[in-house]
Amino acid sequence: MFFNKKLKIRTRFAPSPTGFLHVGGLRTALYAYVLAEQNKGDFLLRIEDTDQSREVEGAVDNLLKSLKWAGLEAKEGVIIDNDDKIAEKGNFGPYTQSKRLEIYQKYAKVLVDSGRAYYCFCTSERLESLKNDQKSAGQATHYDKHCLSLTKEDIKAKLDNEEKYVIRFKVPEKQEVVFNDVVRGEIKFNTADIDDQIIIKSDGFPTYHLASVVDDYLMKINYIIRGEEWLSSTPKHVLLYEAFNWPVPQFAHLPLLLNLDKSKLSKRQGDVAVEDYRDQGYLPEALVNFVALLGWNPGTEQEIFSLDELIKLFDVKKIHKAGAVFNRDKLDWFNSEYIKKLSSTEFKVLARPYLEKNITKISADLNLEKLFEIEQQRINKLSEIGNDLSFIFTDNLAYSVADLVWKKSTPELTLKNLELLIGELEGYSQSNWRADSLEKNIIKFIAESGLKNGDVLWPMRFALTGQVKSPTPFEVADILGQEKSLDRLRQAIDKLK
Ligand code: GLU
Repeated sequence: MFFNKKLKIRTRFAPSPTGFLHVGGLRTALYAYVLAEQNKGDFLLRIEDTDQSREVEGAVDNLLKSLKWAGLEAKEGVIIDNDDKIAEKGNFGPYTQSKRLEIYQKYAKVLVDSGRAYYCFCTSERLESLKNDQKSAGQATHYDKHCLSLTKEDIKAKLDNEEKYVIRFKVPEKQEVVFNDVVRGEIKFNTADIDDQIIIKSDGFPTYHLASVVDDYLMKINYIIRGEEWLSSTPKHVLLYEAFNWPVPQFAHLPLLLNLDKSKLSKRQGDVAVEDYRDQGYLPEALVNFVALLGWNPGTEQEIFSLDELIKLFDVKKIHKAGAVFNRDKLDWFNSEYIKKLSSTEFKVLARPYLEKNITKISADLNLEKLFEIEQQRINKLSEIGNDLSFIFTDNLAYSVADLVWKKSTPELTLKNLELLIGELEGYSQSNWRADSLEKNIIKFIAESGLKNGDVLWPMRFALTGQVKSPTPFEVADILGQEKSLDRLRQAIDKLK
């Protein structure tokens, strides 16, 4: 293994622009970013768009913006520039594979010339019937190296004749491929199980295997972090490195992300796109913290980590082998913790658009400060703001008179107490109409009048909210303001009469 500590670590995140940034991709990017940062190395972003049929318009922009939102921007490779445009930066570009086709052609040719790859002119009909024959003979399907026996003259004639071809990598027969994975240790594959891979397709584009090996080599990537789904590709890559006589990088294959039922994480059981979490009002720090712990932990009780702390504590050798369950309740917990940690101003700025979306009519006389204060302590995600407080924004509360009466009381007593309470509240100054002073003064008034707390506070809270569960009557009165509160208390009295 060529990797040694003296080398400057260079990692990469190499998404294909087929849609959105998957939460699994976010974790891959995070680990690669953190590993580079903690070693004062480089983290670059490469776009792997050689399968043009799978490309989705706007996907690159979307990927980059999601990464930026998460705070994981690469300084090299494909980036978003100051004008919010997609750009490339760095000495090893272009960093978009579709702009590197000549490079792959050149290296494929190197392999052909050294006898490690060959032209294959087999038609799809031939390949199809080969596959069927192998299937009916109960064999594993594989290419039969038919074109390997073509002579130089045959090949030249076919090329001159402009016959369609692919270039295949000549996989050595019955050889053991061994490589080291930081997560899984020594991995062995036998080449008997590896087909002669296509490295250049008939449209002239490289396949993933060739493009990724050539790029990782030319871009001096020496530490490859990617999902476990790529593990079976790695022996093919190792063989390519060897065929080129290039040093093999260090690999780390990250454990699968799982649904709660231990099946592979899927959209059917909830969101998987980073942008969906962003839109619902998850904070980037919370999502990053959460995914950091999917497959790794520092071995202590600590669960809350800033990106800086992750950079200090992350240990690539402690990544787990077993699949990591993507528990959305746990993510909600992280998010609520991060929401609580925001300053009240930050919270307001972030939460306001969600409130305006949830509540169509917000009257100007409400004390939203108090509402934000309560909600900051309560919600798991910003999109939940105001959801349980719709009574604040409705003018006519629907509840039955019986609900106004405390369980140990009577309608008559309730009516009397509410009248006394209104008399008291009318005397309060607007500037004192704050939850804390309301609480102090009302409790004092109840005691001095020889009343019982429940007998005043229950009907007060119910008259203000029409709800069995709500914030305290003082907090609600604070949000509603003096006029609206008195109004609702008077409406309750009307109902009781
Ligand atoms: N383009 C591959 C993907 O979309 C990258 C695999 C790798 O990291 O080698 O995940």
